[in-house]
Formats: sequence, structure tokens, C-alpha cells
Amino acid sequence: MAEINRVAVIGAGQMGNGIAQVMAMQGIHVHMLDVSPEALKKGMETISKSVSKLVEKGKLQPHMQSVALAHVVPGSDYGVLKDRQLVIEAATENLDLKRRIFKQIDDAASEGAILASNTSSISITTLAAGTKRPRKFIGMHFMNPVPLMQLVEVIRGLDTDDETYRTVMELAKRLGKTPVACNDFPGFVSNRILLPMINEAVYALMEGVADAESIDQIMKLGMNHPMGPLALADLIGLDTCLSIMEVLQRDLGDSKYRPCPLLKKYVAAGHLGRKTGRGFYKY
Ligand code: NAD
Repeated sequence: MAEINRVAVIGAGQMGNGIAQVMAMQGIHVHMLDVSPEALKKGMETISKSVSKLVEKGKLQPHMQSVALAHVVPGSDYGVLKDRQLVIEAATENLDLKRRIFKQIDDAASEGAILASNTSSISITTLAAGTKRPRKFIGMHFMNPVPLMQLVEVIRGLDTDDETYRTVMELAKRLGKTPVACNDFPGFVSNRILLPMINEAVYALMEGVADAESIDQIMKLGMNHPMGPLALADLIGLDTCLSIMEVLQRDLGDSKYRPCPLLKKYVAAGHLGRKTGRGFYKY
């Protein structure tokens, strides 16, 4: 497989723009597509700010700022996918939506292109089965915030071939990340373990075990976690947290994964965490 230099990212939200940024910083040409013009605008602004910060901290050469920005082209037309070697989907965590998006990507991308999903929990095998290329389909799960986090969880679907796997592992290393592979089960490794902890923290809050600040302090100081679970939920997005718990509950069929009613209530109210300015905390 040739070196990957032409990529598209579907979704310009917090993950999509982060993925586009780390690619662009390596000189990879990225088309970043979203249905929402506001999301595209905000995504480009986020990349610009994030790259400036890296330059300020001395982590990126000043001339790379314009190089990185010039390598991301925002848009909404799937026609640009025809010459992409890799298309990474990072749209909202919803199975039906992702299925529809992958149908469009599959039709628009060339036969040889690899398709990847940044899903937090949805079955890679199921998404792959909806395309004509399950062998060239893989999970590439970046962590938030993408420019700062080391891990890429690489998830092989049932039919993912070795070449696709090797290409994606190589690319993740080229981005300065550490890829770690796992098999395709709901939530993979990261969110199979993280989300039940976050959900339990929300139960603790709902039951009045302690207030949000105390729950987070106890987990930070007591368990040496860099962030408390409720602050982390606000960073991830409460809608995404709820979707992941619903996938765990449905696909593992165990009631221990039931989402906390308080989490559902916040999402129903539109308090989704940092991205809406209010979640368990105000921003
Ligand atoms: P987000 O809400 O910030 O962004 C989602 C974006 O998808 C929005 O800009 C929305 O306009 C766009 N979108 C919706 N429908 C679309 C379509 N048909 N075509 C193109 N774009 C469309 O969400 P996010 O946090 O960036 O999450 C994106 C994906 O990444 C999800 O699958 C999520 O589970 C996964 N993920 C999230 C995190 C996290 O911490 N938030 C971490 C790892 C993976």
C-alpha cells in the first residue's frame, strides 16, 4: 500500500477537526466534510487556535502553522472523496446515521480506498457489512483532545484484511501516536471500561453520595486520574456518553450497562457538556 497522503474526514466536530489537524500537521491533504456550515467554520477556527497554541508552546515550528492550515479544505460535497486513499468518519455517535454516511462514502470513494470509523462504541463489523468493502474497513478510534492524546485504538472488524490493518497502524505511528489493536466488541476496550465508571459517577451524583466537585476530587486525588469522571463526561459530550451506554446495554444485553436517568435528563435538556456550555459544570 502506498503511503497515505490524501485523506477525508467526515464530521468537523471536536473529534473530526482534531483528526484533520493531526493529519495536516504531517503534510497530509485533508478534505473535512460536515453537513453543518457552522460546524465547519467552528472546526477550522478550532484547528487554527490549536495549531497556534502548539507553536506558542514550542511544540510546532512557526512555519508549520500556515502549512497545517493550508492542508485542510472544509466542504460538504462527497464528490471530493473519489481520489482519497482513506476516509475517516467522525460524525455523531448514531448507528443509523453512520450507516447512511458509509453508504454515501462507499459510493463516492474509489474501490481501493480504506474506510475507517472513529466510533466510540458501534460495531465495526456491522458498519463494514453495510459497505462493498468489509476487508478494507477498520476502526480508528482517536482520543479527545486528538492533538494531545497518545492513543489510537485500532479495531479490526471480522473481515478487516491485514493490509488495511498494517496501513492504519503505520499511519497512526506517522502521526506521532501509539496505536493499540483490539477486537470488535461493544465499546472496544477503552469505552467498555471508561463509560461504566462515568455512568456510575452520575448515579453517585443523582443519589446524593456527593456533589459533582467532590466526586471528581475523590477520583482525581484518590485514584490519580488526571480528570474527574464528571468533568471528563462534559469533555466527551453527554450525548456521546449516553449513546455509548445505550450501545453497551443493547449489544451486551446486560442491565448493568443501563444509562443513569440523570444522564438522560441532561441530554434531553440539551445540556451536553462543554460543547453547549453546560453539563455537570458550567463553562
Ligand atoms: P460532535 O458532536 O462534536 O461532532 C459531530 C459532527 O458530526 C457535527 O459537527 C455534526 O454536524 C456532524 N454530522 C452529523 N451528521 C453528519 C453527516 N451526515 N455528514 C457529515 N457530518 C455530520 O461529536 P464528536 O465528539 O466529534 O464525536 C464524533 C465521533 O467521534 C462519534 O462517533 C464519537 O463517538 C466519536 N468519539 C468521540 C470522542 C469524544 O471524546 N467526544 C472520543 C472518541 C471518539
